Amino acid sequence: MVSNIKKIGVFTSGGDSPGMNAAIRSVVRTCAYLKVDCVGIYRGYQGMIEGDFKPMDARSVNNIINKGGTILKSARCKEFRTKEGRKKAYEQLKSEGIDAFVVIGGDGSFTGAMIFNQEFNFPVIGIPGTIDNDIFGTTFTLGFDTALNTIVEAIDKIRDTASSHNRLFFVEVMGRDVGHLALNAGVGAGAEEILIPEENLGRERLLESLKRSKRSGKSSSIVIVAEGDKTGKNIFELKDYVEENFPDYDVRVSVLGHMQRGGAPSCYDRVFASRMGVRAVEALLEGKTNLMVGTIANELILTPIDIAIKGHTKIDKELIRVSDIMTI
Ligand code: ADP
Repeated sequence: MVSNIKKIGVFTSGGDSPGMNAAIRSVVRTCAYLKVDCVGIYRGYQGMIEGDFKPMDARSVNNIINKGGTILKSARCKEFRTKEGRKKAYEQLKSEGIDAFVVIGGDGSFTGAMIFNQEFNFPVIGIPGTIDNDIFGTTFTLGFDTALNTIVEAIDKIRDTASSHNRLFFVEVMGRDVGHLALNAGVGAGAEEILIPEENLGRERLLESLKRSKRSGKSSSIVIVAEGDKTGKNIFELKDYVEENFPDYDVRVSVLGHMQRGGAPSCYDRVFASRMGVRAVEALLEGKTNLMVGTIANELILTPIDIAIKGHTKIDKELIRVSDIMTI
């Protein structure tokens, strides 16, 4: 492969997700394989502005494929939102001899990369690292599968206590704008109801559903609530509403919180990260830029970053139907 790109930077930015380390490892090792230098950029755009760089060889990423979080650290950086901040970042990259970068992050990080590419004609490729699965142009984002497994494992445990005490549990999972985690985890964990931002079916329907389930002989139930669901003002208010209207149940709330982002990546995410890292480096060396690597029907696909961030991921209606059937 003949390319002008001799040194590639890699960094993680925005919210962390499991599998980011596996993606860093893949980018670093692919660079080593293709005899291109690789530099780790610490703390996302903040570290880029400050020149917080470290050369990475194939051995520098030993024993990280199984680790959650990100060895390069992640950060949010206000300064990069300004033209002056991005200019500083560009100067740092140039003085280090970095010709292109791979950004592992979510839509905010991609927006920054796209603007940077437009301003400085600097080659960038994105790897979608976010547990929310809210990026267009890929069926899955890196970390989504792991987060789902973490959530399902937690709900399985909550189910044990729910069924021992005839309790109704409201379990809040991440997802301010999208319900992919809630819907998939809800089906996987056998939830009674799944409340997501995309579909506000109303409180009455929730009560009806809980009554129906009680009549059908169920003595405990799990309701999954995405953070951004609008059925109640928040999950605690929803609990109060159900308790007032449905005194039969002992209602409890469990907010899973940040544990959903952590932990060792699943095998799927490790493989996915490895594939995307290879493709990202190859794409840069092929002269491609401003694209995101993703997967559709298990094929690796490159999507223009502007489409990836502007397009809306749709909730899987078929899965909603499956959930409705399962909760008969
Ligand atoms: P995520 O990548 O997980 O969506 P954020 O939305 O916090 O996370 O974005 C991460 C970083 O990307 C921000 O802290 C900022 O440095 C950069 N960024 C986000 N949006 C823009 C923008 N419009 N212009 C320039 N940089 C941006």
